[in-house]
Amino acid sequence: MSAPPKLTPEQRSAALAKATASRRRRADLKAQVKNGLVTIKDVIDLAQTDSAIAKMRVSELLESIPGVGKIRAIAMMERLGISTPRRLQGLGVHQKRELMKEFNLRSRGKLLVLSGPGGVGKSTVAARLRDLADFWVSISATTRAPRATEKEGVDYFFLDDEEFDRRVARDEFLEWASFAGARYGTPRAGVEKALRAGKNVLLEIDIIGAAQVKRHSAEAILIFLQPPSWDHLVARLEGRGSDTPERRAQRLKLAQSEIAAAEGFDLVLVNDEVENVVARLVSLATS
Ligand code: 5GP
Repeated sequence: MSAPPKLTPEQRSAALAKATASRRRRADLKAQVKNGLVTIKDVIDLAQTDSAIAKMRVSELLESIPGVGKIRAIAMMERLGISTPRRLQGLGVHQKRELMKEFNLRSRGKLLVLSGPGGVGKSTVAARLRDLADFWVSISATTRAPRATEKEGVDYFFLDDEEFDRRVARDEFLEWASFAGARYGTPRAGVEKALRAGKNVLLEIDIIGAAQVKRHSAEAILIFLQPPSWDHLVARLEGRGSDTPERRAQRLKLAQSEIAAAEGFDLVLVNDEVENVVARLVSLATS
């Protein structure tokens, strides 16, 4: 091991002062936990941005929670597979969730927004995520007519223009946009409820809607799904027998401008294999 760097007396006293301040911050926070002013969830959230708190030992935090003594803290950590010297910064996502569950608290889920040109395969990806326990996929409202295979309340909530207007007026949509002659909107209440319950939420919406979500919720992660090639996308849109030739032409034109809008998204994924895209989204939500 290389020798530790030599510090000047000034550097040494600055480092000591920093360490003392960090210890004091941890002690203050533990006192607040003890008095029930902050929860374990607050501390775990704070540890993500505060390096002094990140260095707090998990055991110290648990022991300061009212009703949890040394013995219960050790037993809980053993049960959850958390080693005794572990610090908050070393906790995995799963361990954090399990710890909060012990105290009936859940961390807020992640908000993922999936956009991309029509026909790229967003709904197939969304359908796969709907089957996963930790995900909640929002069902949008739309004024367009149902396709032959679509079901009310499963694929969309199909509304007439008047009802859509009423919901816009009551501010019931997290976002809404017009697309190819129809309107589409994300019902706000379900999204908020799922996030609070700790579920990861997926919105499968157009790029205008995605930008609106980001404006209101900086936490949202915007993902743009690209087709492997333009020919691939044309083949998919042409194969959609349910659309009229005019509507197909309109959608192809729209897709061209949509592809150009990938910039400004947090992540661009190529839909080469649905399973690859699903795996990336799951890892984004759990990291
Ligand atoms: P489709 O008519 O093919 O089901 O959807 C057309 C476009 O509307 C797709 O790009 C789809 O992602 C988007 N879309 C679906 N639901 C919503 C929504 O709630 N809000 C917005 N802004 N776009 C949506």
